[in-house]
Amino acid sequence: MSLDGTYDDGNIFAKILRGEAPAARVFEDDHVFAFMDVFPQARGHTLVIPKHSQARNLLDEEPAVLTQVILGVQRVARAVRAALKPDGLVVTQFNGATAGQTVYHLHFHIIPRWEGVELGRHAAGGMADPTELKALAAEIAAQIA
Ligand code: AMP
Repeated sequence: MSLDGTYDDGNIFAKILRGEAPAARVFEDDHVFAFMDVFPQARGHTLVIPKHSQARNLLDEEPAVLTQVILGVQRVARAVRAALKPDGLVVTQFNGATAGQTVYHLHFHIIPRWEGVELGRHAAGGMADPTELKALAAEIAAQIA
């Protein structure tokens, strides 16, 4: 899908928000929902999405919503840091298939990095164990300030 197009509410993140698909929930407030990526590029790979939005990407988003989303990203990234003690954190966001986007509901990736541990490939890794993801989600959730 290119940068242009209309929002499809059948996308997997919309289904997660409606409770029609499972997710290892980390955090939610009135504006954002954070959960574990099921094909993690690193241990603790977390996604943050707006709850009330029909933006497919960053360019579509309303400034007021985007403000809340990026504040949510910072809050969750701080919790990931506190829980997992990484050496670094990558925050990424893809716009359009050519850029690597595979799900067309705006989202930010928070990916912890450790010295000497290679980053997994984007959207190309294996599926994580759901029980392990739930445990990680709980560890991160416990550190939300
Ligand atoms: P992007 O390629 O930037 O659109 O990112 C989409 C991300 O969603 C990828 O990292 C996928 O691993 C992840 N993903 C796809 N389906 C699910 C799902 N059901 N639950 C959690 N993460 C998912």
